[in-house]
Amino acid sequence: MNKIRLTNITNNEIFTYSTILIKGFVDIHDESNIILKHYSNNGKQLAESRWSVNKNKFKIIIELKIGDNMLVFKFANEVLHTKLVYRQRVTNYTVCPVYVICADHDGRFQAPVDHDNSVQNACTKITLCSKLIQMLTAEKMYEKGFGKKTFKVEKECRIIKSSLTRRTVFNMHPEKLWEYIARELTAGQNSKTQKYLAFLSCTYWDGQNLHGHVALGGGGLALFGTGCLYTWPSKLEEVLPCFMNMAKVDTGTLLDDSCFRGNFGGCFSTTLGSVWHELGHTFDLGHSKYGIMGRGFDNVHLIFTLDNKNIAQEIKPANKGYIICIENYSNTINMKDDMSNNNNTTENETIDEYDSKHIICWSMGCASILSFHKWFNDFKEENNNEHKIDYVAKRNLLTSRNGLRVVQLRREDGLVMHSWEFVKNNNKRTFILPVQLANNGITIIAEDSYGNILKYLL
Ligand SMILES: [Zn+2]
Repeated sequence: MNKIRLTNITNNEIFTYSTILIKGFVDIHDESNIILKHYSNNGKQLAESRWSVNKNKFKIIIELKIGDNMLVFKFANEVLHTKLVYRQRVTNYTVCPVYVICADHDGRFQAPVDHDNSVQNACTKITLCSKLIQMLTAEKMYEKGFGKKTFKVEKECRIIKSSLTRRTVFNMHPEKLWEYIARELTAGQNSKTQKYLAFLSCTYWDGQNLHGHVALGGGGLALFGTGCLYTWPSKLEEVLPCFMNMAKVDTGTLLDDSCFRGNFGGCFSTTLGSVWHELGHTFDLGHSKYGIMGRGFDNVHLIFTLDNKNIAQEIKPANKGYIICIENYSNTINMKDDMSNNNNTTENETIDEYDSKHIICWSMGCASILSFHKWFNDFKEENNNEHKIDYVAKRNLLTSRNGLRVVQLRREDGLVMHSWEFVKNNNKRTFILPVQLANNGITIIAEDSYGNILKYLL
């Protein structure tokens, strides 16, 4: 048996996205790094990289080329050959990265003096991180047993000039701003098949107050400020160093959005995670008590790093009670209760693997919605919008000819109160809501086998 083992990929595996995470371990004790040589199908070497091994484990991020990719892993005297295939999905349903520049702004984002804050670099960072979120989504779907399903990201980050001035943006309520930008982006476009992942260039931290900041997602748009864009990587090889960057943020001149960690790595983790969370809302996800759609998104770095020691953050593995930073949530949650029906934890799972798997995860309801979502599947157009889901309020009855897959009841703040999933049952045509649960102010969300979604406010 080979002493280099890959745990989340298999030989000849086909990927629908290009930036991938490879996890594995080595069964030999050696102080060296693992070396990865990446070849194209015709034997041309594309890249060579070195990755550290910590307690026998390693994690690698690489960019696949279209077609066959030959990978050669080398550690001590051991060599492992693996072939991975990258085949893009053919779909009109995409996520489009966007950089929004105000009418009277040059598009330079706030950053330390020596940092390249050009429009070009902003777009490079946004495109790279959109692909990281695409990969993270797939990894977390895989961990829930749905395979590596994810959305398609458009190649180029679009640069859009808004008609709004900086001053107007600073004075606008975030929700109004979201509405305005959504209208500007979708004007004359076929917005039915596009989700926009947009960033506002003009976000400004004056040392005490934050202006032009927004973090909102829903419908066809997830919109963000760029206050912490300076902590994001521009190249794949900078991803890990950015997560591990413990430099303190000088809050006199720069925004610290790190969930009280105060360093660059914390800012990158929290802001990348919040982009992921808000993008989740555009895919019709509500809030869960834990995970990506809860406050687990502060800990995205755990998926990439090998050693928690490198991250200045307060994780208390002995007692899984986590403080949630978001307002209008209950103060603490008990992870144990939420995970009671999660039985895929192995005895010898180390704490960081455990955290990466269970703190940063999709709840079963979220993963089920995504697995039947139009952006995650290649359904034929004729299945679109036909035989939609019906709700007969008098009888609390949901019906669908395509088969119901997920039914959820959500509170006003989007928190999922009840979730029913029929992932393996492709002929669930009716569902009666328990009368005692159908209260005023609660929204019913239902999804059918072709990703058609009903939202009904009780
Ligand atoms: Zn949210």
